[in-house]
Amino acid sequence: MREYHGIPASPGIAIHRAFNHNADAVSIPHYSISELDVESEWERYTLATARAAEEIRSIKSSLDTTHTDQHQLLDAQLLMLHDPEMGAQIKGRLPQALLNVEWVLTEYIENMVGILEASGDEYLAERSMDILDVSRRITNQLLFREKQSLREIHDEVILVSPNLLPSETIQLDPHKVRGIALDAGGRTSHTAILARSFGIPAVLGLRGICRKIKPGEIILIDGDTGTVIVSPDHKTLLRYEKKLKSREESQKRIDGLRDLPAESTDGHSLSLLANIEIPGEVNLALRVNASGVGLFRSEFLFMDPDLQPDEERQYLAYKEVLEAMGGRPVTIRTLDVGGDKLLPTMDEGDELNPLLGWRAIRFCLEEEELFRTQLRALLRASVHGELRVMFPLISNISELEDALALLEDERKQLKSEGYSIADSMPVGIMIEVPSAALIADSLATKVDFFSVGTNDLIQYTMAVDRGNEKIAPLYQPYHPALWKLVKMAADAAHRAGIPIGVCGEVAGDPALAVLLLAMGVQELSMGAFSIPAVKRIIRSVSAVEAQGILDEVMGMACAEDAEERLHNWLGERL
Ligand code: PEP
Ligand code: MG
Repeated sequence: MREYHGIPASPGIAIHRAFNHNADAVSIPHYSISELDVESEWERYTLATARAAEEIRSIKSSLDTTHTDQHQLLDAQLLMLHDPEMGAQIKGRLPQALLNVEWVLTEYIENMVGILEASGDEYLAERSMDILDVSRRITNQLLFREKQSLREIHDEVILVSPNLLPSETIQLDPHKVRGIALDAGGRTSHTAILARSFGIPAVLGLRGICRKIKPGEIILIDGDTGTVIVSPDHKTLLRYEKKLKSREESQKRIDGLRDLPAESTDGHSLSLLANIEIPGEVNLALRVNASGVGLFRSEFLFMDPDLQPDEERQYLAYKEVLEAMGGRPVTIRTLDVGGDKLLPTMDEGDELNPLLGWRAIRFCLEEEELFRTQLRALLRASVHGELRVMFPLISNISELEDALALLEDERKQLKSEGYSIADSMPVGIMIEVPSAALIADSLATKVDFFSVGTNDLIQYTMAVDRGNEKIAPLYQPYHPALWKLVKMAADAAHRAGIPIGVCGEVAGDPALAVLLLAMGVQELSMGAFSIPAVKRIIRSVSAVEAQGILDEVMGMACAEDAEERLHNWLGERL
């Protein structure tokens, strides 16, 4: 049994076999073998080498003869594959190390590459790439590995991968992928957000987990504590069975609150809404009796490379959500791509600092046709329910004015084409860049509502990439600097008489939701799974008392003090 710890990114417990995805890059299994297995490991190696040679020959035959460089490269790889020195080294090492042959090969290759790179000879150093390529071919054959599509997972598994893009995560079938363990990622990365939306337990930021887990090993994921246990023993399984039972019981208790309002003991109530990424998620929102959809991340409609949504398809998706919510408000955020959410047409690596770059409203204002198409689809859908539209990543007034002008333009255009459009369709912005919070008074004069995106606001206030596991401890939702900015936005909204909500992950954290209650925020929007727990805590506190705690937090210098104070106060209620 081996135990690892990472970032608890999506709650829940799951026990299944590991499915190593995208293992190409890093996942080499490491396990002991007995002396009796040495011969068969060597046979596996020779067979894999023969298959890798076949693969290279077939690539060669598919190239036309004009590609002389590539032919030469492949010939060199064939020679390397049959290098008698490499074969002899591996054969000799197997009985000494008593480790699986993939690992022995990897160690040999890493050593070779180290020597070549240290040689100071540019030509030799460049050859190390070819050696790595050859070794990858053999390893892939040893593990029968091909790049697998995530849509093709047919058994219930725990997905183990170096990283997972949001566009890959959206393809997951939660009935098959029962847990996720990743080397990379932080709690508010979009991968984590999607895992929570789908109810898939996930532990991220496990740095190196791919090397440590063999495909097919039984692993236990505890997304509540960020623990991953490989080959759990009987005692551990019993412990987790108990934990699962008590989780189910507390879930039942929480479900009992379904039809009660989120109202504090002194009568202050909040609306709890759901964040969704795909129209199908409204079912879960309705199951927990969400008061509406506070954030529909519309960009996920655009993530399928085979199905880019035109105006009609978008209109139908928005209409579906509005109708399903049956008159409850639905806030659709316009396209927020860039950063970690790339469209299939965008290239990773185009920008040096993508999170500070061409994303969200900045992208839309330049890709005007795409944006106008979305605005048309939204305006047309407005007659099917209580639609609100909001623009992401506003950082200055002119962006907002430009976006509003385009919306107005499309409204007039559609009317002239004879479409009916709702008389009132509130338009708001996300407050997720510090500059927006700082000029919130001015922004408030131009919109109908604010929604605070704390995921990005934390990232940009503290200069901490929300998806980077190396600096995850610096990503601090309790940091008083965040609360000062949220308070600024809330005060500005109150002065202007417009509503303010929060749709970042902070809203779904029961302890922090209490601070938002104290701030006079009217709406909290979160992954639907979090709604019951947030409702329970709101019903257990007094808003006036919470205001006292908020005042204390605002005067503190660090996140640790704020967290301790809030948790001590809430105590058993958490
Ligand atoms: C946020 O930034 O808090 C937010 C809700 O938007 P996203 O997580 O999609 O960036
Ligand atoms: Mg955001």
